Amino acid sequence: MSNVPKVSAYEIASRNFERAADLIDLTPEWRTLVRTPFREMKVEVPLYRDDGSFTTFSGYRIQHNGARGPFKGGIRFSSLVDEQEVKALAETMTYKTALVDIPFGGGKGGVNVNPPDLTDRELEHVTRRYISRIHLILGPNRDVPAPDMGTNAQTMAWIVDQYGRQHGYNPAVVTGKPLELGGSPGREQATGRGVMLITLAAAKDHLGKAPADLRIAVQGFGNVGMNAALLLAERGATVVAISDHTGGYHRAEGIDLEGAVAHVRREGGDRTLRGYDGADAVSADDFMGVDCDVLVPAAIEAAIHSDNVDSVQARLVVEGANLPVTPRADAALNDRGVIVVPDILANAGGVIVSYFEWSQNFQQYRWSEADVNDRLERILLKAYRDVAEKQEALGSTMREAAFALAIGRVVTAEKLRGAL
Ligand code: NAD
Repeated sequence: MSNVPKVSAYEIASRNFERAADLIDLTPEWRTLVRTPFREMKVEVPLYRDDGSFTTFSGYRIQHNGARGPFKGGIRFSSLVDEQEVKALAETMTYKTALVDIPFGGGKGGVNVNPPDLTDRELEHVTRRYISRIHLILGPNRDVPAPDMGTNAQTMAWIVDQYGRQHGYNPAVVTGKPLELGGSPGREQATGRGVMLITLAAAKDHLGKAPADLRIAVQGFGNVGMNAALLLAERGATVVAISDHTGGYHRAEGIDLEGAVAHVRREGGDRTLRGYDGADAVSADDFMGVDCDVLVPAAIEAAIHSDNVDSVQARLVVEGANLPVTPRADAALNDRGVIVVPDILANAGGVIVSYFEWSQNFQQYRWSEADVNDRLERILLKAYRDVAEKQEALGSTMREAAFALAIGRVVTAEKLRGAL
């Protein structure tokens, strides 16, 4: 695929911060204090492969800001992981937890490993080695990881076990766990559910469209993209295009999502859409330009950039992924009146249900899935309304309003603690 990021995640995160900081007249001292990570850790992760060869990976855990509570953020396994990317994602988490007003700060971790290249045994080994080297800075009241790109509930199960070997079993050290190990009902779908809720709210308010009138394209068919697509279709929307790193697919009458999911999960397959024959193939370059009302980038950073932004047909872009729109593309979309719902609002459903999972672990009490989904909806839609109100007050974009609100809350917490 040729849609590899051309602008770094860190550049995108810097733009998000500076634009909002200008709007709230944040002083240079406060800009430095808020932006600079609290702690950055880099570790080597050695591995003897099953064939006897030896290799090492670099692992990171960056704790960006903990003024509002324990650091919170996923662990990414991807060959593109580097320190700058993890730093940008950690900072994004600080503002996400502040925006939806849950008692966490922001952090992120990653290992520059490409999971499809490793066997399950090798992946387990990499996970355990990584955790055994960062465990001292983790903890239920210190830093609570979760899944992100390339990791899943199984990875979280290895983490809870590895952490437990060194500190005693405590499920609240990580979220996104399997149900059997203290995971929460609804966590697997939570980010996609949040994307669905925000998409429908924004489509109603900004496009005046009901779910059944929406044609939607979703980039990325992993945890976020697949669940968002399924839940949007369940509410009556037509998903006209889907894609993953192996290719894109378009069908104007709507993709048969059950068929696409079955293709990805087929026995003996590589868990991708490769070879899916239920729709027309679209190239990575053409994907962003498919005819639709809503575009949901739910895969990688910088997916919408200056070279493809002019082809975007959608009137609403909902950021399922973190940092998927470059600053120049964002400006171009705004100039054309395309509404962009920022990542810290659009994909916050996952961290909200992670908060529920963490709370349930402390309570040693399991909530019902209906209860989880209901509380998720209430928290997320309140944040959506808060952003709309702030946007009105500032006369800004939705992104600027969301970041202004979030940064303001982090500054307030720092001030109360007596940071400066
Ligand atoms: P995942 O690993 O489950 O899925 C990623 C998907 O993106 C896969 O289908 C992959 O093939 C696809 N992809 C990768 N490169 C691509 C490319 N160049 N073009 C098209 N598709 C490509 O990851 P995920 O958990 O779904 O995360 C996706 C994004 O959402 C990331 O930005 C992540 O930080 C963000 N996010 C995830 C969560 C969560 O709870 N998992 C929460 C908030 C935000």
